[in-house]
Amino acid sequence: MTFDVITIFPEFFRSILEHGLLKRAMASGHTTIRLHDLREFTDDRHHTVDDRPFGGGPGMVFKPEPVFRAVDALRSEAPEKALPVILLSPQGRLLTQAVAEELSHVERLVLICGRYEGVDERVAEHLATDEISIGDFVLSGGELPAAVVMEATIRLVPGVLGNEESTEQDSFAVAAGQPSANGHGLLDCPHYTRPAEFRDWKVPEVLLSGNHQQIRQWRRRRSLEKTWKRRPDLLAEAALSEEDRRWLESLKM
Ligand code: SAM
Repeated sequence: MTFDVITIFPEFFRSILEHGLLKRAMASGHTTIRLHDLREFTDDRHHTVDDRPFGGGPGMVFKPEPVFRAVDALRSEAPEKALPVILLSPQGRLLTQAVAEELSHVERLVLICGRYEGVDERVAEHLATDEISIGDFVLSGGELPAAVVMEATIRLVPGVLGNEESTEQDSFAVAAGQPSANGHGLLDCPHYTRPAEFRDWKVPEVLLSGNHQQIRQWRRRRSLEKTWKRRPDLLAEAALSEEDRRWLESLKM
């Protein structure tokens, strides 16, 4: 999977590319991340990427020409292939595990990082094929959101994580063979490790029992309980068994 990131701060990505998951995914050849400095697609001496907003008001806006030029250059590398272009924007569709899962099947995608007041609207209207937001809050630039999109997506690419199962057990993940209507799962169950007793707080007995069937049932029930308490919206869309429903009913009593 290849990401082409268009940014005025390529250096911003240095630490995340040199650590953890993204570094490993690049080293193992699962992903390629190419950083493109938007200023290299300008045609004036000062490498101007922004200008004042028409109609007045504070701040600056990314000009359309450098962004179109940058994407055109990337498209020309493989003109026969469709190239998804994502504009990071607080006005985009919300990044969820289901969206990350969808993106993890794409061979190559472009991420455009805005700054200042945002990007000339013609980029959203005529260049981007998708707009993605990482949440209902506003950051100063699209670099952190781009990093979030890449990490959320790459960890779902088969082979990137050492233990394949660990993404299936994560919060929001839909277990294989249990598709729900629009891809939402439950919150993950609680996890514990040694010591079995810490400051008088004991790990739940069942986890020490070695009884795998009981452990599976305990995990499923804790997962349902947490989801019911914290994110009941997820329950409405999750694939639930009869036993799950009975357990949820018992919680309500
Ligand atoms: N004026 C814009 C608005 O209110 O919708 C916000 C612009 S923001 C200060 C500058 C850039 O940061 C945006 O163009 C976008 O690329 C990025 N950005 C900020 N918050 C974001 C979010 N929640 N998700 C994705 N990108 C975001």
